[in-house]
Amino acid sequence: MLRIECGNYLRLMVVGYLGMQGFGSQVMADHQSMTDYSPLEIVEIREPSRRAIAFYQGGQWVWAGSQLLSILIPLCLLITPIGQKLEALAWRYGHGRVRSVILFVMMVMIASFLMRLPWSYWAGHVRLRDYGLSNQSFAAWLGDSVKSLAVMVVIQSVVAGVVWGILVERLPQSWWLWTACLTTPFLVAGIFLTPLVIDPLFNQFGAMQNQALEAEILALASRAGVEGSRVFEVDKSRQTKAVNAYVTGLFGSKRIVLWDTLLNTLPPREVKAVVAHELGHYVLGHVRWGVLMGGISSFGGLFLLARVLGWLVPRAGQIFHVAEASNVSAILLAVLLITLGEILFSPVSNLVSRTMEHEADRFAIEMTHDPASVAHAFSILQTENLSVPFPGLFYRLWRATHPGIGQRIEFANTYRPWVSGNSEVYQDRFQSKSMAD
Ligand SMILES: [Zn+2]
Repeated sequence: MLRIECGNYLRLMVVGYLGMQGFGSQVMADHQSMTDYSPLEIVEIREPSRRAIAFYQGGQWVWAGSQLLSILIPLCLLITPIGQKLEALAWRYGHGRVRSVILFVMMVMIASFLMRLPWSYWAGHVRLRDYGLSNQSFAAWLGDSVKSLAVMVVIQSVVAGVVWGILVERLPQSWWLWTACLTTPFLVAGIFLTPLVIDPLFNQFGAMQNQALEAEILALASRAGVEGSRVFEVDKSRQTKAVNAYVTGLFGSKRIVLWDTLLNTLPPREVKAVVAHELGHYVLGHVRWGVLMGGISSFGGLFLLARVLGWLVPRAGQIFHVAEASNVSAILLAVLLITLGEILFSPVSNLVSRTMEHEADRFAIEMTHDPASVAHAFSILQTENLSVPFPGLFYRLWRATHPGIGQRIEFANTYRPWVSGNSEVYQDRFQSKSMAD
C-alpha cells in the first residue's frame, strides 16, 4: 500500500513520506487453517467486530480532534502574546533574518509539540494500547516521538530559512513561484533520502528472515522485473502489532518494505497477494506519480497562499499581531492557512490515492491469477487492523486513502477477465505466465 503526503511540503516539511495507513491487529484469527481454497472462490465479507466498530467510531472523533488542534495551536500562538515573544527572542539571538527564521521555527515546533503532547500521548499511545494495537512502552513511544520531532525540526527550519528567510523578503511578488519551482527537487531529494537516512533511525531493515518464504517472494518480484535486493523486512514489531507493507524511495533507494508482523501473521499465500499489490505500486511508478502531482499542485497551493496572505494581513493582521505578510510571525499564519487548505482539499488527494490503490489491487489479481488470495488477505487485514468493511460517506471523502476493505473484496470476487477471455490491463508487465494457471 502507499500513502503520499506531498502536502507536507506546504507545511514546510519537504520530506514526502510514503507509508501505509496504520492498521492495527488484535485477535489472531485461525488464518493458518484457510489456506486450501480455489483461486476463484468467492470470499465472504465479514461483519466488523464490536471492537472494530468502536475503534472506527471513536477514530472519527480522534481525527476531528487532531484537525482541530492543528488549527488551534498556530491560532493560539498568533492571537496570544506567545508568538510575538518567540519572534522577539528569535531576532535577539538569531543575528540576521535567515538565522532568526530558523530559530523561530525551531521554537514554534518545540512549543507546538509540547502543547500537543497530552493529546498525542492519549490518541497515539494510550488509545492504541487499549485496543491492543501498540507494542510500545511509554518510554519507547516518547523516544520515537522526540526523535521524529528532531528530524522534522532540522528539515522544516532549513526550508523555512530558505523560503521565509530569503525568498519572501527578496522577492515579495514572486516568492511563491520560486518556492513552487523548488518543491519537486526537494521532494525528490527527500523521498530518495528518507529510506537511507531517516527510516533507519527508527527501525532495522534487512533481508527476510523466513528463507522458504523469501525464495517465493523473490520469485514473484523477479516476475514483475524487480530485483530481489529491493525487498526488505523491517522490525515493526518493536512499535506495533499492526500488519503492513509499503513501497518507498526513488532511483537507487526505491524499495518494497514488508513489516515483520505481516510476514509472521499472514499465511504464505496471502503474504504473496500483499507483495503482488506492493509490486504494483513499484512497477506502475506510483511514487513518481505522487512526486509529480505534489510538484504540480504546489504551484496552485502556493499561489493561493500568497494571495490569501496578501489579502488577509492588511485587513485582519491586527488580530493576529502580524503587521506585514513578510513578517517572521506570519509563518504561523501561513501554517494555519496551509492546514485549512489541506483539510479542504483532502477529498481530492484521497481520491488520487484510492485510484492508485485500486490499480495496485488490479495488478495483484492479474499477476497472481489468484483473486481469492487477494480477498483473503484483505479479510485478514480487516480483522487484524480493526477495520470496518464499509466506512461511511464522511470517512470515504475526507479520510480514506484506500478503498474500503469490503469494496476491495468485492472487486477481487468479480474481477477475473482471463476466465472469460477478456484482455488484462497489466499482462505485458510480467516476465512469464502466471503461476496459478
Ligand atoms: Zn497500496
